Amino acid sequence: MEPADGKRAVLVVEDEKNIRDLVCLHLQVEGLDCVPVGDGKAALDEAGRRRFDAMVLDLMLPGLDGLSVCRAVRRGTLNQDVPILMLTARREEADKVLGLESGADDYLAKPFGVRELVARVRALLRRGARRAAAAPDGQRPLTYRHIRVDPARRRVRVDDHDVDLTTQEFNLLYVLLSHPGIVFSRDALLARTWKENTFVTTRSVDTLVKRVRRKVERDPGSPEVILTVWGAGYKAADV
Ligand code: CA
Repeated sequence: MEPADGKRAVLVVEDEKNIRDLVCLHLQVEGLDCVPVGDGKAALDEAGRRRFDAMVLDLMLPGLDGLSVCRAVRRGTLNQDVPILMLTARREEADKVLGLESGADDYLAKPFGVRELVARVRALLRRGARRAAAAPDGQRPLTYRHIRVDPARRRVRVDDHDVDLTTQEFNLLYVLLSHPGIVFSRDALLARTWKENTFVTTRSVDTLVKRVRRKVERDPGSPEVILTVWGAGYKAADV
């Protein structure tokens, strides 16, 4: 869904006109197609209409603030994986954490130098390109009941919380959730979960399943996502 002229597009959401103009001017100099908007509502309208290659998003906006915009964009379909650079006037570390928890990829405190901003946007664009390359068909983000899995970002959301999974935990969860109802033997899960040859046994799969259940099940004591199939292995419950 590249624009006709092949330029990469950046959505710039900033209510202060001077900053918005300055940011756009410099991104355009970089050869980017810049779409400026002044509030969160307009941002969501644009984000619902077309795909962007990156987004520069001010935290403090009138009406819908940057965090809400960020979360809404991540829940949407067209730009759920767009790299987002969050701008904020506040320097507190808490803002950084908030920004990243909301799904922003990077963070820049005002006042910032324009060169710094351009460098960060370029880095995001490179990351976005890698992300697209790393997510061929079959590695698309998937939603399974209350769980959302994004393989390109290795991100897992359970209800509205990001959950940290190890590589093995992630692999196991992704294999099962992308094939609901299909039973995987412990050996099959072993092969798909531990990519490199290590000293693991099928017993390790049971331990791993327990750990994943603790992280993604609403009640790990009576799992509804990863089911044990006695004498066979495990499966994700049919949806
Ligand atoms: Ca602002």
